[in-house]
Amino acid sequence: MSDAERVRAVADHVARTRRQGADVVVVVSAMGKTTDDLLRLASDVSTVQPPRELDMLLTSGERVSAPLLAMAIAGLGVDAVSFTGSQAQIITDTTHLNAKIVEVKADRVRAALAEGRVPVVAGFQGVSLDRDVTSLGRGGSDTTAVALAAALGAEACEIYTDVSGVFSADPRIVPEARRLPRVSFEEMLDIAASGGRVLALRSVEFARNHGVPLHVRSSFTWEPGTWVVEEDPSMEQAVVTAVTHDISEAKVTVTGVPDKPGIAARLFRALADRAVNVDTIVQNTSLHGTTDISFTVPKTDLEVSLDVARALAPEIGAGEVMADDGIAKVSLVGAGMRSHPGVSATMFEVLATAAINIEMISTSSIRLSCVVRADRVEEAVRLLHEAFELSGG
Ligand code: ASP
Ligand code: MG
Repeated sequence: MSDAERVRAVADHVARTRRQGADVVVVVSAMGKTTDDLLRLASDVSTVQPPRELDMLLTSGERVSAPLLAMAIAGLGVDAVSFTGSQAQIITDTTHLNAKIVEVKADRVRAALAEGRVPVVAGFQGVSLDRDVTSLGRGGSDTTAVALAAALGAEACEIYTDVSGVFSADPRIVPEARRLPRVSFEEMLDIAASGGRVLALRSVEFARNHGVPLHVRSSFTWEPGTWVVEEDPSMEQAVVTAVTHDISEAKVTVTGVPDKPGIAARLFRALADRAVNVDTIVQNTSLHGTTDISFTVPKTDLEVSLDVARALAPEIGAGEVMADDGIAKVSLVGAGMRSHPGVSATMFEVLATAAINIEMISTSSIRLSCVVRADRVEEAVRLLHEAFELSGG
C-alpha cells in the first residue's frame, strides 16, 4: 500500500472477501518505501545504531499501516481491529533485525475472529523473550502472514504484492516470461534463494514446514496468481520451471591456500561467526600443495568478509585475498531436473554459444547455477529462457 487510495482499495478487497463469508486475518507491510526511508533517517541522525533501537524504529512503519487499514475497512461497514506484533503475541528469539519466530499465540486475534471482526496485524515484527520489539528481516511481513496462517489453521495464505505472481523469469528482462500457475515449495525455495525476489525466503521455508499453501498475487489486479504448494507426485514435473538471476553478490578469492585438513573449516567458521551468509563455494584441486578458494557473499557482507579473510590469511599460510563485485549468478530451477540428465550440458552450451564465460558452478538437486560477468547476465537469462522454451507459447 503506497498511499491512502491504495489503503482504501485493499480495504475494499478485504471487506468483499469478508462479506463472501470467509474469516479473514490481514497482515500489513509498511507503506511504500517507509522502511528504506526510516533506515536513511537513522543514518542521517547517527552512526551509532543499536539493533534494538533500529527495530523500534523500523517496525513503526507497519504500526502506521495497520490502524489505517483497520479504519478504512471499518469505513466500509466491516468491523476491524488492528494489533501490533506484540499484541498478536508473535513471540521471537532475541536476535534483533533478523529475529526468528518461536511461537505464535495470537489469543486476541482468535478472539477478534470469534467476534466476527477482521484482525489487521502489523507484519514484520514480534516481541522477544526479553520483551523487546524485534523485526523479522527485510520482507518479514510475508513471514508474519505465513506464521499466523499456520497458527490459525488457515486454508491458505494469500500474499499480495506488486507483481502478479511468480514468473518463468524476471518479466523486466524477458517480456515473454510466463506467470506460473503453480510451483512446489521446493522450487519456490530455490527460486527465492537464487534471486527471484517475490517472496522472502524465510516465509517459504515456514510455509513448507507447516504445509501452508501460498497464493502469490497482485494487489493491483486481484487476478489469480501463482500457487505455491506441496509437490504433486502424480504430476509430470517440468524439467526447468524458471530462470532466475541475482546481481546482489560479490566474489571473494583467497589464493595460495595450503591444501590440508582444517583450513576451510577455519575460514568459513570465522565468516560464520561474523554472520556472513556464504553462498557458492569453489575450491580447485591443488597443484603444488596449495589451492585457491573462491566464494560468493551478499555485496552488503563484502567488507566484513574481506576483513575476516585478510586477517586470517597470514595465520593459515594463504596468499592474497581478492574481491570482485562484477559478478552475477544465473540459475535454472525445476523439480524435473532430478530425473532428467543433460540440463547442465544444455545450459553450458547455451552460454558457450554466446561466449559467456562461466566462473563458478553450483548445483542442488533441482537447481543449476552459474556465476558469470554481471554485464552478461541479462543476456544469459534471455538465452536460457528461450533455449528451454519457458514462455510456453
Ligand atoms: N517493511 C519491511 C521491509 O521493507 C517488511 C516487509 O515489507 O515485508 O522489509
Ligand atoms: Mg514487503
